[in-house]
Amino acid sequence: MRFEFVTLFPELIEGSVAQGLLGKALDTGLVQVRCKNPRAFTSDRHGTVDDTPYGGGSGMVMMAPPILDAMEQLDRDAQTEPEPQPKAHRVLLTPQGEVFSQATAQRLSQLPAVMWICGRYEGIDARVNEHVDEELSLGDFVLNGGEVAALAMTEAVARLIPGVLGNMASVIEESHSDGLLEYPQYTRPREFRGVAVPEVLLSGNHGLIARWRREQAVLRTHARRPDKLEQADLSDAERKLLNEPQEPGKKP
Ligand code: SAM
Repeated sequence: MRFEFVTLFPELIEGSVAQGLLGKALDTGLVQVRCKNPRAFTSDRHGTVDDTPYGGGSGMVMMAPPILDAMEQLDRDAQTEPEPQPKAHRVLLTPQGEVFSQATAQRLSQLPAVMWICGRYEGIDARVNEHVDEELSLGDFVLNGGEVAALAMTEAVARLIPGVLGNMASVIEESHSDGLLEYPQYTRPREFRGVAVPEVLLSGNHGLIARWRREQAVLRTHARRPDKLEQADLSDAERKLLNEPQEPGKKP
């Protein structure tokens, strides 16, 4: 899958994607990354990409022409690769967009290519919005730029591409993949600061372990993110479990 970035900070993107599992996916060709800097599409000596807002107000606004030029150059580059590649699905990063979720990551991971358009300053001239497929937000807070949001989304999408993670099973069981948060995990030592690993996990009984994990996931989601349970597929027994009193002082 190809990830394209329109950004004033290509070094930030290139340095980050080269790390960890994403770096390995780049090396093996499972993932490709292309960056285009709108500054390269300016005609003045200073490479000006921003200007004061019409109507007044604080800060500067990113101008539409260099951004559109960078987006269109990425499209042209894709079509003239050794073999022509499909154009990328265009995503504008903005705190005003739909909030990104695991479901969004799953949907985007089915596409051949995504283009992230990263704003800076007070944001981007609103006319750019007419040239994108969707607008996404990382959450209800404001960042200085779209790069960190685009990197977070790239990571969430890329790890769903078969082969990027060593073990695809972990993706299926993870938090948010089936509407539930993941069950608690433990590793050695068996006892740590007076807290022992739950006995069932040492039993070797896979049926019991699977049932315990499912119950823990349901209880945990109920305690921490009850809003999520509405989308989860729960059995009658699991719904009954939610009404049973839990051990006092224990947070699932
Ligand atoms: N003035 C804008 C507003 O109030 O909506 C915020 C501009 S923000 C300082 C600059 C850039 O950071 C935005 O154009 C966007 O690309 C990016 N950004 C900030 N917060 C974001 C978020 N929560 N999700 C995605 N991108 C974000």
